[in-house]
Amino acid sequence: MSGRTHARACPERTCVGCRERAAKRDLLRIVAIEGICAPDPRGTLPGRGAYLHPASVCLDLAVRRRAFPRAFKVPGPLDTAELRQVLETAAR
Ligand SMILES: [Zn+2]
Repeated sequence: MSGRTHARACPERTCVGCRERAAKRDLLRIVAIEGICAPDPRGTLPGRGAYLHPASVCLDLAVRRRAFPRAFKVPGPLDTAELRQVLETAAR
């Protein structure tokens, strides 16, 4: 049994908030653009991406543990206000 026989129909990513693995399509890709965490729902923006459940609880966790600067390998804090707004709008 090689373990490679199963085709990976849905690639998994780890949520930077709760650290749980989930299907890539269930997570929102985030990229850092000029110090701002920008949502990339279509996965088309260039650069290093981080994945997050589209939920404000996961965003809170990610912010608290400074997961975004770490994921993007940038030193400073990142602005998540716009991202939060997107998540809260989408949750409705
Ligand atoms: Zn999560």
